Amino acid sequence: MSKNYTRGRRCSPSVSRHVRMASWALFLPLGLTACGVTDPSSTLPLGAEPLVAPSNYLSWFGETEQCSGLSGQFDRIQFYVVPGVTSFETEIGPTFGLWSRIGGTDRIILAGAQVGEEMVVRHEMLHALIGTKGHPRALFDVQCRLTWKSWAEK
Ligand SMILES: [Zn+2]
Repeated sequence: MSKNYTRGRRCSPSVSRHVRMASWALFLPLGLTACGVTDPSSTLPLGAEPLVAPSNYLSWFGETEQCSGLSGQFDRIQFYVVPGVTSFETEIGPTFGLWSRIGGTDRIILAGAQVGEEMVVRHEMLHALIGTKGHPRALFDVQCRLTWKSWAEK
C-alpha cells in the first residue's frame, strides 16, 4: 500500500460504525462494508487492476439511479478489482469496496469476491451518484436499502 493511499481521508461514517451496526443485526456475519474517500491523492490498493464492468452493472446502476432519484454517467465510472481477496486494507480498516472521485472521474474498487455482490457494488454506485462522502440515511437505508442492515431487511 502506498503512502498516498494511507493518507486518504476518512469517510463518514467509518467502517467501525458499520461494525457496530452489524453487531446489532446478529444475522449479519461480517462487519466489513463499503466506504468512500474523495482524496485526490488516493492511489490504488496493492494488486488492484482495472475491471471491465460485468454486463449486469449497467442495470444495477439504473436501479440505483431509480431508487435514489439521482442521475449519473455510468461510463464515467472506472472499476478496479483486487483479485483473489474477500476484502482489502485501507487506512480505516478492511473494506469490501471503495468509491473515490478523482478529478471528475469516479473510481470504484472492489475486492475480488465482491464483484458479483449486488449490495456492495450498488452501495459504491450510490456513493458515485451522490458524489460526496457520507451515508445519508434517507438514501442508503430508506430509499435504496444499500447497507447491510437495510439490505437484509429487504
Ligand atoms: Zn459507503
